[in-house]
Amino acid sequence: MKGVGPQRADLLKKELNIFTFGDLLNHFPYRHVDKTKVNLIEEITSATDYIQVAGILSVIELVGHKHSKRLVGQLADKSGFLELVWFEGVSWLQKNLRQGEAYLVYGKVSFFQGHPQIVHPEMELLTEETIEGKNYLEPVYPSTEKLKAKGLGGRPIGKLTKLLFTLLREKDVPENMPSTILKQLKLLPRFEAYRQIHFPESLENYEQAIRRLKFEEFFLSQLRLGLLRQKRHRFSKGIVFDKVGELFNNFYGNYLPFELTGAQKRVIKEIRTDTARGHQMNRLLQGDVGSGKTIVALLTMLLAIDNGYQACMMAPTEILAQQHYNSILELLKDMPVSIRLLTGSTKAAQRKEIIEMLADETLKILVGTHAIIEEAVQFRNLGLAIVDEQHRFGVAQRAKLWEKAEIPPHILVMTATPIPRTLAMTAYGDLDYSIMDEMPPGRQLITTVHRYENKRSQVMDFVKAEIAKGRQAYIIFPLIEESSKLDYENLMKGYENVKAYFPEPRYWISMVHGRQKAEQKRINMHRFVTGDTQIMVSTTVVEVGVNVPNATVMVVESAERFGLSQLHQLRGRVGRGQEKSYCILLSANDVGNDARERMSVMTSTNDGFLIAEKDLDLRGPGDIEGTRQSGELNFKLASIVKDRPILETAKNIAMKILDEDPDLGSAENLLLKNFLMRQKNGTVWSRIS
Ligand code: ADP
Ligand code: MG
Repeated sequence: MKGVGPQRADLLKKELNIFTFGDLLNHFPYRHVDKTKVNLIEEITSATDYIQVAGILSVIELVGHKHSKRLVGQLADKSGFLELVWFEGVSWLQKNLRQGEAYLVYGKVSFFQGHPQIVHPEMELLTEETIEGKNYLEPVYPSTEKLKAKGLGGRPIGKLTKLLFTLLREKDVPENMPSTILKQLKLLPRFEAYRQIHFPESLENYEQAIRRLKFEEFFLSQLRLGLLRQKRHRFSKGIVFDKVGELFNNFYGNYLPFELTGAQKRVIKEIRTDTARGHQMNRLLQGDVGSGKTIVALLTMLLAIDNGYQACMMAPTEILAQQHYNSILELLKDMPVSIRLLTGSTKAAQRKEIIEMLADETLKILVGTHAIIEEAVQFRNLGLAIVDEQHRFGVAQRAKLWEKAEIPPHILVMTATPIPRTLAMTAYGDLDYSIMDEMPPGRQLITTVHRYENKRSQVMDFVKAEIAKGRQAYIIFPLIEESSKLDYENLMKGYENVKAYFPEPRYWISMVHGRQKAEQKRINMHRFVTGDTQIMVSTTVVEVGVNVPNATVMVVESAERFGLSQLHQLRGRVGRGQEKSYCILLSANDVGNDARERMSVMTSTNDGFLIAEKDLDLRGPGDIEGTRQSGELNFKLASIVKDRPILETAKNIAMKILDEDPDLGSAENLLLKNFLMRQKNGTVWSRIS
């Protein structure tokens, strides 16, 4: 490209990742400077921001001394005078600006001692051509200091894009959308959208261009994810669970400790249908804390065993794995099913035994941590892998489970971090998706309050009163991410403080934190679970899954430091028994607006999905815990927070198209198909230099 030599080309690559014309085309301006009008100087008011005026440069002179030296000019049009000031590049300007000539001047108006002026205005000699050429919305692009130094700042980059559009033809940026969609949604054609986003003829056109390109981003991503899911549905080989057998029926008929909720029944049905089709199930099960996912997992495992397969269940921490193991053991105590626990601290002899039992299939259910996916652990006949609290495991780790069987096992990923629907369909559009949006009956609402530090002693008195009634309490301290040493010190200080309120031997306290050995953690946890200690002081390790029904108070220390979903998870530790439960958010006396907003969300609702929505609004998708990191959520223009309606539309249309024409074989969808194929093979654009 003319104007781009090796040096600039190199910088464009390094600084902005612009290698090709295509990259440049997709480097969008972040704003436009309105040069559609030439104003009169007398129109300037205190409300004027940027302005473009034209007039004669009637005075230009150097004023001030050494440090306050500056170039001052005066621009005159028929309505008045405007002062122009430069502090830098003064000598060059002095040589090049010509007194008495007419200039087109653009810049930000400021007031100095009551008079309007423009500091460092852009100056251009006024000719017929200037007026003509400048009469538009000028794009301003993201740029960097280094590029700026080479003459490619935010606005000069526009010279390149301008040139680019003189070279491009419509066939270079071909339409990829079926014409019915364009018509239905009144979208600009693709080439036109690109032109208007760089060089809009009006603000209205600019907005239309943005709308079209955002839609395209969402639509193509939804289509891609949908195609992936569909491919799995149609072509993956999967184990067939075609019968509901002895174990399932026996358990369901005789040992189910409660009536299943409607949501639980629905999800089990979805899983049964899915696992009977002969294709691999890859399902995400979302259910708020306490919605009863464990029983769903258990029934699914029984289904696998009834069909002649082994099952495993993986949890992110030892504590959780242990708890799952205990509750499954308890639920199946009268059933002829072998269950074992495998974690990092399983003794070698036991581990050896487990591996042998897996190999000869005397072991049917293995519960554990990461230890399950180690190379040495081989199943004879793995048919189902359940992953609890998914966000602690990466996609790559999940894939390791697949490799444990010739035909990949069915996968059920369970998560208690509610993810807003919009986010879920964007991030997990390639998975099937079940949701448990109903709580088991009789669950009490947890009363949540926000208290400032100066009310600490009242809060502790309240905890004492609950303990006097025979209940237990959690007191949770935040993780200060940068430093585990600080965490530890913070926790220890907190512990001493708690101890001062709750002295032995009247009170006993368990403490669990990340620096403890697994065994020590287990013992401390166990003492709390059995009621040996009344108070659990901990960092967020208890966040997920821990079940102590007698605990009725959750005190969150420095609550302002926690994110919404984390607070919600913590709150889920109480309210698990018959008794009325409380969550007390204890914060510094002085907290910021965002933190106050989070507290007020927490005190006003118990609904995890609502909280997740709020979290998305407050923090944006990047920070949401439990979502994929790999870029599914990063769009160039579109935002899954702000552009949710567009996302919904894009998703619905993409699904409809895939329903009606799964191979995109129709003439109507040919453009789309070709486009997706080309993208897969990588478009070859000419190099920029
Ligand atoms: P989570 O979804 O958080 O893993 P759990 O499976 O641990 O939830 O269930 C939470 C509690 O609710 C457990 O004590 C469990 O026994 C109970 N529970 C689950 N389903 C039902 C139900 N349908 N009716 C009554 N209690 C239930
Ligand atoms: Mg659970």
